[in-house]
Amino acid sequence: MPTYNAPLADSLFVLFDLLKIDSDKYGDIFADVDRDTVSAIGEEFGKLMTDVVAPLNVSGDQQGCTLANGTVSTPDGFIEAFEALKAGGWTGLVADPAYGGQGLPLTMGNMLSEYLNSANMAFSMYYGLTIGAYAAIHTCASDELKAKFLPKMVACEWTGTMNLTEPHCGTDLGLIRTKAVENSDGSFDITGTKIFISAGDHDMAKNIIHLVLARTEGLPEGVKGLSLFLVPKINVDDEGNLTDSNHVSVGSIEEKMGIHGNSTCVMNFDGSKGFLIGEKGRGLKNMFIMMNEARLGVGIQGLALSEVAFQNAREYALDRRQGKAATGQKDAGETADRIIHHANIKAQLMSMRCFNEASRALVGEISVLTDVIHYGKDDDKIKETAKDRINLLTPIVKGFLTDKGFDNAVVAQQIFGGHGYIAEHGMEQFVRDSRIAMLYEGTNDIQALDLISRKLPAKHGQTVMAYLQDIGGFIVANQDNEQLKDIIEALQKAAEALQGALGYLMEHGQKNPDNAVAAAHDFMHLMGTVTFGHIWAKMALVAQEKLVDDADNDFYKSKIILAKYYANKHLPEAKGFQVKIMSGADVINAMPIEMI
Ligand SMILES: Cc1cc2nc3c(=O)[nH]c(=O)nc-3n(C[C@H](O)[C@H](O)[C@H](O)COP(=O)(O)OP(=O)(O)OC[C@H]3O[C@@H](n4cnc5c(N)ncnc54)[C@H](O)[C@@H]3O)c2cc1C
Repeated sequence: MPTYNAPLADSLFVLFDLLKIDSDKYGDIFADVDRDTVSAIGEEFGKLMTDVVAPLNVSGDQQGCTLANGTVSTPDGFIEAFEALKAGGWTGLVADPAYGGQGLPLTMGNMLSEYLNSANMAFSMYYGLTIGAYAAIHTCASDELKAKFLPKMVACEWTGTMNLTEPHCGTDLGLIRTKAVENSDGSFDITGTKIFISAGDHDMAKNIIHLVLARTEGLPEGVKGLSLFLVPKINVDDEGNLTDSNHVSVGSIEEKMGIHGNSTCVMNFDGSKGFLIGEKGRGLKNMFIMMNEARLGVGIQGLALSEVAFQNAREYALDRRQGKAATGQKDAGETADRIIHHANIKAQLMSMRCFNEASRALVGEISVLTDVIHYGKDDDKIKETAKDRINLLTPIVKGFLTDKGFDNAVVAQQIFGGHGYIAEHGMEQFVRDSRIAMLYEGTNDIQALDLISRKLPAKHGQTVMAYLQDIGGFIVANQDNEQLKDIIEALQKAAEALQGALGYLMEHGQKNPDNAVAAAHDFMHLMGTVTFGHIWAKMALVAQEKLVDDADNDFYKSKIILAKYYANKHLPEAKGFQVKIMSGADVINAMPIEMI
């Protein structure tokens, strides 16, 4: 049975040592969350994860969800664990106090979200979808709708979903057919079928609030004809009481590869009463509020699964004995060495740690920028710069973190040898569960295309240039740092590869868009690799400073070793991506589709 312990020490390092959220730069945004408070919150939440939520991961996977008499039952123990989450006040941690939340920064919520997903990804999604729906309603809905629905959602007495996908359309939402017909009282009748709806129905909440994209009459075809509606499973009267059924039914639950503890439903809306959120025709834009948060949330899932898979692979490698180390036996008196002594196994563990800790730092950075936008002082320039950086890096967070998260789940499984393939150890579940994060919230290919076709050209390329200048400025400022010389040099070479690939795309992507489309996946990985190189160099610098007064601290020493490892073993991959990108689309276009 796999185990999990929240990596609190590293979260604290990211927030306080690397990002310095307690510095004057952030005014009072993080005033309520000093190091001791975050430490206490993280410890308490981590304990809930280790003791209550993580033990349900394997059983939830084995039992799955079931549909009987029109309602979905979650696996044994989920209801009690959800109650524990609610009773601890965790569901309202980052929500607006006006609706019963505690108003803590999103940075805190995202730190805990990693722990929740590591402990049990399928379970976490019931809450994750709710907080996403909360965000869209909070930003776009009328005060009346907010007052009626948000307090119950903040408390998770009612949970939320997002309904975009239909049988004939997933990526291309302009094809949506679900209809919304306006009633004389301003409400709408919603009719249509949505598929693959996560947490679409279950037995852990009294009501489910569906956010549904639908088409109203009189608006253009395509995405401009879509509007966003709030559709409760059970109708709610003016006093907030549940009344009668709203004709929302579950057609079936999908049989799927992983996240069996989460109900993925076909949802039928049969003249269900819905309420417009935001303006007509701006549905996709409003839904994107939910989707942008969801994309960050899905990126966190990539990190979370990689972290829990790593923790279990490390334990196994410290215990399993096979063969003797190439340089001679290390565990004297034993029949064989523990497999962690083999350099290949050790390197795989180090690569996973490199990925996890850089991902945690990147998630922290984006979360802090989001808090700057929400809670920072009124400075349009600072907020706009924060928004630009978030927009640029969101495809990296979603696409790169989940691609690598899945890769790492496979690597962790590999460390178990054949035992990784056997269900008992739980490693194959991490592989199955992490796979979905590459697919939903827009496939990772779509994230890569979004990066090159929208995010790079944004503001005539100024956003990405500002980003490259940050990295360049860091390199110049630290090039005389003797101890970190190899890290800075490797970062410089990787940054040059990124710049070279960008230059190629600007010239050849415009001449023939296929050159850009063919390069998208590699470019996302190139930019992710360089981003992590920059993060590792910054973390090494912080560790170097800390070691001046604390020379024997293994935590900081390991940061420098890992930064050097990343610089030597991963940053050189940047050049390979550049070469692939610059080979263009000709070799692809040489093949007629009939010959594939
Ligand atoms: C377990 C699970 C849970 C889900 N949860 C939800 C949910 O809660 N709510 C919801 O609304 N949806 C949900 N989805 C749906 C999910 O978001 C979609 O499956 C996903 O966005 C992809 O859409 P699709 O499956 O229709 O693939 P398609 O859009 O048919 O894409 C097929 C392939 O073509 C590629 N492709 C598509 N268009 C282009 C293009 N223009 N250029 C290049 N390549 C392209 C894609 O990358 C993909 O590889 C869920 C799906 C699953 C499996």
